[in-house]
Amino acid sequence: MTCGLVDAGLSRRALIAASVALPLSAARAAAQGEAPFKVHMRRANPASDPLTVALTFDACPGAFDWRIARALAENSIAATIFVTGRWLRRNPEALAFLAAHRDLFALENHGYWHIPPVLGRRRVFGIAAAGDVATVEREATAGAHAVRTAWATEPSWYRGATGFYSRSALVAILRLGYGVAGYSLNADMGATLPARAVAGRIADAVDGSVIVAHINQPHRSSGAGVAAGALALQARGVRFLRLDQMAPAQFRYF
Ligand SMILES: [Zn+2]
Repeated sequence: MTCGLVDAGLSRRALIAASVALPLSAARAAAQGEAPFKVHMRRANPASDPLTVALTFDACPGAFDWRIARALAENSIAATIFVTGRWLRRNPEALAFLAAHRDLFALENHGYWHIPPVLGRRRVFGIAAAGDVATVEREATAGAHAVRTAWATEPSWYRGATGFYSRSALVAILRLGYGVAGYSLNADMGATLPARAVAGRIADAVDGSVIVAHINQPHRSSGAGVAAGALALQARGVRFLRLDQMAPAQFRYF
């Protein structure tokens, strides 16, 4: 992978230890040469009957994939949607649709501007990183404010743009009081996979999976696969969890 990005193992204990022990100095973090990493998580000790899966979506800047939204709503499939402030501004009709199905959908925080919580002068998938901790905190708190305004609830989870984090950025987000929403199954690889592949990946989810896909790319093939995959899971008798009904302690981080 480019940009020196790595998939680092990260236990919850390590996260907690990091939140206590690490200084928040951006200069110090830069000196440590922090390599951005992903946060993976799945439900800890899932009950096997029925199978449980958390279906989560990122609404980065962009539009709204009505194929996915309508399929979920028509089949009463619950999901957690991580929205940016920029997406909320551009998609009032989508927000109204989600709000009309509040029993199914939860809104959580994907930042305001979609700035990766990564320190240093670098780009992540072509997007300029936050660079310093103050920018990370501003991105998270402004995103939370946007969710609060749109949805009238306090978001409890944060997922950084691109899904990569610097260690000090992650600590700063935890100290703001948010759970960091990792995932265990990347269903669409940034909405780049064709529908058939996406449907297959989702349909093969295992008990406790936290699935991520994108709901902001209606002109790509992936979204059709998301809808098909979710229906296949439902046919398997899967119960769909929403993250707003779950606490970080109910997940295992890796
Ligand atoms: Zn995103």
